[in-house]
Formats: sequence, C-alpha cells, structure tokens
Amino acid sequence: MAAAVTRQAVCYSLEGSFPNHVVVASLKDGSTICTDDHCKTAKDPVASALYNTVTRIHCFIRSKFGIKGIDGKGTMAHLYIHWDEDNAAWSCETGSCVWRFNSRYALDPKVVGHEYMHAVVSKFAGLNYREESGALDEAMADVMGLAFSEWFTGITSWTIIDRDLSRCIDMRSFQRLTPREVPSERNDYGYVHDNGRIPSHAFFYAVREFNGLLHGKVLHVWFNAILKASRNETFVEFANKTICFAQDLQDSQLVSAVTYSWLHVQVLKQQIPRSIGRAKDLAVYLI
Ligand SMILES: [Zn+2]
Repeated sequence: MAAAVTRQAVCYSLEGSFPNHVVVASLKDGSTICTDDHCKTAKDPVASALYNTVTRIHCFIRSKFGIKGIDGKGTMAHLYIHWDEDNAAWSCETGSCVWRFNSRYALDPKVVGHEYMHAVVSKFAGLNYREESGALDEAMADVMGLAFSEWFTGITSWTIIDRDLSRCIDMRSFQRLTPREVPSERNDYGYVHDNGRIPSHAFFYAVREFNGLLHGKVLHVWFNAILKASRNETFVEFANKTICFAQDLQDSQLVSAVTYSWLHVQVLKQQIPRSIGRAKDLAVYLI
C-alpha cells in the first residue's frame, strides 16, 4: 500500500488540475448517475470506482507528461457504464466522443487506463484505426494501462485482458511475441489487436533491457513518440521516433535498449552501429 499512498499524495498535490467536468451515466436509460466530486460517494459502486480510477489516470498523465485531460485543455469525455456487451470502448460519432464500459472492465484499472489512452491518442495523433497505425494505437493503450496500474499499485504485470470478443477471454501478454498476421479489412481492422503485440513485445524487451519500470524512461519515449505519430504511422516510423526521443534524453543505455527492442521484434532488421546519429538516419532499415 505504500506505493499507492505515495501516488495518492501526488494526486492531492495536483487537485486543482483535476478534470472539472466529469459525468458518469448509464447506458441502460441514458440517465446521469453522478457528476464531478459527487461521484466519489455515488450509490452505484461501479460509478464511484470508475470515477476514482479516471481521476488517478488523469493525475498520472498530468504529473508525468504535463497533459491535462484528454486533449491538454482539461477536456474529459462522458463515461457510460452498465454496457451490456462484454467490452470496453472509446468511440466518437458525429463529433461526440464517449467511453463505454461494462461493470467488469469499469473496475479494472488496466482496462480503464487502456481506454483513457485511446482518447489521448485520438486527440493528439488521430491514428487511422487499421493495420499498423491501428496496431500502434492498441499497443500504446495496452502500455498505458499496464504502466498506470504499476505506478498506482506498485505491482508490475505484463498481461492485460483481451477485449476482442472474437476470442472471448484471451489474455494479451507482452512477454510473448506472436507472429504477424497479414492485414485484412475483414479481420479486426487488419488484426490491430494481434499485431499490436509486436510493438508491445518491443516495449517489454526495452524495459527489461533497460532494467527499468513500466512507467519509467521507456514509457516516456513511447508516449512522446505516439503524440508525434502521423495518421498512418508505420511500425518502422514509430520505432525511429522512439529511438529519436531516447537519444534526446542522452542516455546511451536507454538508446541501446530501445533500438535493440525493435531489432528483436524485426521491425528494424539490421544491426545498427552504436555510434548512430539522429534517428532519422535509421529510416533505411525497413522490412
Ligand atoms: Zn483498445
């Protein structure tokens, strides 16, 4: 509990920057269950738990990356619970964006962190949710879910529950590298969940090589890289961005860990000299 108490203290110190317009509503009838701080003591335990988790994720990203809300301006989307599907989702229709959760996932900090990161990525990078850019979206969401969970609880886990209904209750583990699926429009937007495991495994490898934490420097370079990603970002482009941001931190061990993680998953395919210059020089290493 010591870690959680410390994290809570960080959150309290940022109280003034908490999101100021949070609405938790029910998908059963569209009614509002609670708003803002009233959610802390809402009669619906799922609503209060979700509110508390979201404010902590907000705190985590605000304190680590200086981003307030999902767009840097303090904006929060409405949170809908009581979803009758066994799923959680971030979605935007006609300019209105919402989160939806069934009760099981509303209570899982990893899943809430995952969906929160989808919102941040959509606001900053707007990745096309298909093929490699979609897989990067999924990988970054998984990374954030696990990093937030570790930051808050002090417990490191490399597995996130898979929410792809086609495979029921599968588990997505960062520790396994799975073969790349050939993208197809008819298959999960080009296997965004399956192929997201490739960059996810690179993240695992980099953290392990760096001997760091999930919410440490490797997360920092990934977070900055995804915010600068283009709409149709490829794995290679993203890999080069992470190396570039690692170089900016002037930590040779970090540069080495991040670089070799991408070689390990064969996104970059050539042995790269240790004395490499800027990451843009690596763009020739395509597969
Ligand atoms: Zn997702």
